[in-house]
Amino acid sequence: MYQGSKLARGDSPVSVIGAGIAGAWQALLFAQAGHRVTVHERSDEAMMLSTSHWAGGMLAPYCEAESSEPLISRLGLRALDLWRRELPDTPFNGSLVVAHSRDRNDFERFARLTCGHRRLDARALAGIEPSLEGRFRDALFFPGEGHVEPRRVLPKLHQRIIAAGGTIKFNSEPRVADIAADGDNIVIDCRGLAARDTEPELRGVKGELILIETGEVELARPVRLIHPRWPLYVIPREDNLFMLGATSIEAEDTGVSVRSALELLGAAYAVHPAFAEARIVEFGSGLRPAYPDNLPRIEVDDNRIAVNGLYRHGFLIAPALAELTLAYVQCGRIDNEVMQCA
Ligand SMILES: Cc1cc2nc3c(=O)[nH]c(=O)nc-3n(C[C@H](O)[C@H](O)[C@H](O)COP(=O)(O)OP(=O)(O)OC[C@H]3O[C@@H](n4cnc5c(N)ncnc54)[C@H](O)[C@@H]3O)c2cc1C
Repeated sequence: MYQGSKLARGDSPVSVIGAGIAGAWQALLFAQAGHRVTVHERSDEAMMLSTSHWAGGMLAPYCEAESSEPLISRLGLRALDLWRRELPDTPFNGSLVVAHSRDRNDFERFARLTCGHRRLDARALAGIEPSLEGRFRDALFFPGEGHVEPRRVLPKLHQRIIAAGGTIKFNSEPRVADIAADGDNIVIDCRGLAARDTEPELRGVKGELILIETGEVELARPVRLIHPRWPLYVIPREDNLFMLGATSIEAEDTGVSVRSALELLGAAYAVHPAFAEARIVEFGSGLRPAYPDNLPRIEVDDNRIAVNGLYRHGFLIAPALAELTLAYVQCGRIDNEVMQCA
């Protein structure tokens, strides 16, 4: 739908608050479109205060359809194109879903609720992931999916923002209202869970993870293990690292419980027993910013735009949300499923 936007101007300066995955993509697309972009981020370059720092980084619109609304698939599929366009070295090796024989029914249910996959028998599975030879009788292979390494891709996006003419101020924590009051400045508020002062409906959904290191197992793509409570997965990282993730708990504390650690490590062991000899590098957790319906929102109120509620899909959908925000500012286009205008 098109509607005259009070913000429909291509030359306004844009302040983005928050350099997590949502803010980074907003800043990049606005800077490339010719806006004078300044990003404010309260963390230093390590981005330890962002949820994005703790994420798995799977770009999995097909797998996520098992437990998400169609909107997530729509945004996610569009975002895959934007990842390919902006960071062509993003690995698109697909992803795998496997199951213990006792979770067979859940495996078949996962297959029914998702598309974009083909079934591999044990031989075909070993053909694409030799480390998994003899481990599972079959698997679902989603060839169109990708994954990024958040702690490497965020700095890459930040560099691209600067290359496109933007400025990033780390250790900078301005008040959104102060920046919004500054002339014709457009403010894009991407503070994640910290935006609860203006977004009281937001809640944090805790996700725990473990990072392990081993040279005994090689994987080219994320492997999800069907689990009765959570989709547990093993994601290969560079330097022989693997991320084991992730729980999903309605709590806002930090740290990793013994129970979660047992489940995450158990999942890795089920994928390959050689993980038992791996070295534990890190335990961690992050809080996913979520609205009550677990769907993202772009809220427009005069010259303030809030992009939030990316929940468990931030890496998957952030590029598409940035494209929608830009289309609104530049031509007044409104996506009724995602945008709310005051
Ligand atoms: C364990 C785990 C695994 C996950 N795996 C995946 C996955 O595989 N795929 C996927 O797509 N998603 C995944 N997610 C979800 C994803 O991490 C989130 O959706 C995403 O990080 C949210 O991004 P954001 O930019 O909205 O928030 P954040 O990453 O939290 O960014 C907000 C930023 O704003 C900054 N900030 C806050 N207040 C201020 C202020 N006043 N001034 C300046 N800066 C401020 C913060 O420091 C922060 O850097 C996972 C999450 C977790 C916890």
